[in-house]
Amino acid sequence: MIIGIDIDNTITHTTEMIMHYARIFGEPRGLNTIPDPRYYYLEDALGWDQAVADEFLSNYLGHIYREMRPKDQAIEVIRQLKQQHEIILITSRNRQFPQVEEVTTCWLAQNGVEYDRLILNATDNMHYFSKLAACQENRVELMIEDHHDLVREISSCIPVIMFDYPYNRHLNSKNIVRVEHWNHVHKWVQSRK
Ligand SMILES: [Mg+2]
Repeated sequence: MIIGIDIDNTITHTTEMIMHYARIFGEPRGLNTIPDPRYYYLEDALGWDQAVADEFLSNYLGHIYREMRPKDQAIEVIRQLKQQHEIILITSRNRQFPQVEEVTTCWLAQNGVEYDRLILNATDNMHYFSKLAACQENRVELMIEDHHDLVREISSCIPVIMFDYPYNRHLNSKNIVRVEHWNHVHKWVQSRK
């Protein structure tokens, strides 16, 4: 099987690291630093202006992508999956952000993530691209993802294993398998054989 895997908040604890740096950036500026977990995007979760959020991300995204931690068992389960399946990492990180591709491949190597291919957003939209199109171009048969809009889009065609977050709780369909831990991912893929 060809398995597509998202990176942020699927393999990694990205939001935790964003909020760590949001406190460092926001507290001296008198900005709210307590997120509303029902929202995915920083400006919505913290109530920051788009311009402030953009300034924060341009200063801290490199630190965030370098320092975030993998989720428990993510590396081990992906390694096991790769023994029998093709693994394509598909991320909305945009290649146009300076050094984002280099930082991403370095983090994956340093953390021992085994994969066959890495696909980044190569469009002009810095924050969004159609992962369904990427899945179809690469004949992905199962996607592992957390983002509500992407899960909804992709699950219209193929099964999606969705990591549970408050911002995706409203989604429910027969093509969506909600999980909380990478061990559940492993069990589900094994059971499909
Ligand atoms: Mg994600």
